[in-house]
Amino acid sequence: MCGIVGYIGHRDAYPIIIKGLKRLEYRGYDSAGLVLYDGADLKMSKTKGKVSDLELKAEKEGTTIGKVGMGHTRWATHGVPNDVNSHPHFSNSGKLVIIHNGIIENYEPLKIELIKRGYVFKSDTDTEVLINLIEEVKKKENCKLGKAVQIALNQVVGAYAIAVIDVEKPDEIVVARLGSPLALGIGENEYFIASDASPFIEYTSNAIYLEDEEMAIVRLNKPIKIRKIKDDSLVDPYIQELQMNLEQIEKGGYDHFMLKEIYEQPSVIKDTYRGRLLVDQGIIRMAGVEDNLEKFTNAKRIVIIACGTSWHAGLVAEYIIEEFARIPVEVEYASEFRYRNPIINKDDVVIAISQSGETADTLAAIKLAKEKGAFVFGVCNVVGSSISRETQAGAYTHAGPEIGVASTKAFTTQITVLTMLALRLAKAKGTMPNSEYQRYLLELELIPKKVEEALQTTNEAAKAIAAIYKDSPNCLYLGRGYNFPVALEGALKLKEISYIHAEGYPAAEMKHGPIALIDESMPVIVIAPNKGHYDKVVSNIQEIKSRSGKIIAIVTKGDTQVKALADHVIEIPETTEALTPLLTTIPLQLLSYHIAVMRGCNVDQPRNLAKSVTVE
Ligand code: GLU
Repeated sequence: MCGIVGYIGHRDAYPIIIKGLKRLEYRGYDSAGLVLYDGADLKMSKTKGKVSDLELKAEKEGTTIGKVGMGHTRWATHGVPNDVNSHPHFSNSGKLVIIHNGIIENYEPLKIELIKRGYVFKSDTDTEVLINLIEEVKKKENCKLGKAVQIALNQVVGAYAIAVIDVEKPDEIVVARLGSPLALGIGENEYFIASDASPFIEYTSNAIYLEDEEMAIVRLNKPIKIRKIKDDSLVDPYIQELQMNLEQIEKGGYDHFMLKEIYEQPSVIKDTYRGRLLVDQGIIRMAGVEDNLEKFTNAKRIVIIACGTSWHAGLVAEYIIEEFARIPVEVEYASEFRYRNPIINKDDVVIAISQSGETADTLAAIKLAKEKGAFVFGVCNVVGSSISRETQAGAYTHAGPEIGVASTKAFTTQITVLTMLALRLAKAKGTMPNSEYQRYLLELELIPKKVEEALQTTNEAAKAIAAIYKDSPNCLYLGRGYNFPVALEGALKLKEISYIHAEGYPAAEMKHGPIALIDESMPVIVIAPNKGHYDKVVSNIQEIKSRSGKIIAIVTKGDTQVKALADHVIEIPETTEALTPLLTTIPLQLLSYHIAVMRGCNVDQPRNLAKSVTVE
């Protein structure tokens, strides 16, 4: 899940690479490195730690000169994060150098074979095996770098986005992709290479996204030629105009990207439904749904596949779609789905949810579902991402770039898209009275305003509660119905960024085990809006109170009953039951954020995590 950046052109490559790596740090940040061609030789600096550590080291070592170069920010898969395992990796001759995002699964037999031929390895990485394999092919076949890369990749099993430079041909960078994303920025007499377009957005808005099994030779003053790795056939490059702007990927005055993204939710939820939710006309119009409406309405079953926070959004959608459209829904972890020979029929609809659109397990699950004949609909945030291309239809969430590793606005916008889908299907199937349908449209339109209100009214309360419980080693989150997945998401958010052990449970399940954990030191966050199973949740709160647990309740404005029982309450605005997750989530995001800040954790880049999980 590393981030890669490359540059070849007339500018100094160093600042482009450093700035680009900083923007890609969400993809991995346990070590970083860069290599520059200074006109005579390839100079490398690399180190365990963040891009800022690399910057210090590179400046100390003077690795800052050159118009051609590339850099890497790593999320280790093979070998601990240390200086030696950091990328770039040189081949044994010192002539070839590589950066790599992905995993070479058959690296071990390849390594054994190379060792037999006299190669020595400095690092524990799969990547160093690949660069030496390329070197071996180049020697044996006596061919150019591009050909050697191609032959080597045909011997490799796994996933990769790579960039390779040969010191003897420093006017070109050879790139290739299978499974990990790779974008090429096309400027005036200059090219950019990156895992996503953010490193080059201020230089050019023209980009080519390499497809799986494609490679390209990026050569100075020559048009880019793309070829299929398997059979060397030429592919017509498709140049896209990017819509992202620089402001969208900067912090905009907030201390952290996560906080900025939490506060963006009112406007991005509006962006999600803009042009799709037409309340006056009583219409929901999403092109990907309209074009395939029959597939949805005839579906015997909907299977949602996702990972992490997207999986939680899928669970919320399960409740909503079943309730509104009366279609059975199953929600699966993509990683489990792909390996268990799932029963998928032609009249099943599969919905794949992924913020980045690059999640490796979800991508593989989509391919499997397609092979089995299912219609696959994607819900992604990143436009042009692999999942958006791999699915037969879909709906973007339009949340803008999400940089904070802990997902916030992606979650609420995914729920917004899926709620619109459920409403559209309810309308088409006639499973919801028209008056209720109309009421939902109106309520959904009001959600951004209510999220805004929730942000204003709950932030201070969340901060005060965070100060009291920031040192708790454990935390329990409980919710029922639509808010059970919100409890899971609340617990995940806390775990991810504050490293406090947290569990989410359906409130009634507490009696089947977790209640044993409750004592006077256990904070229990109970999601208790006044709709749905309110009375049942109140009983659960009584049970916690009888065991001296500390109750932090998320309640609807004006609540009195829970207020009388809870140690702390956070009030959210009132809305219709199915839409409460869009509001109850807000104080939970803020609570996790403040706890993490108070514990001195790195909010945007929590340890061991990465934003875009492009390895399985
Ligand atoms: N497998 C490579 C390594 O461990 C790249 C890792 C990645 O892309 O996450 O260094």
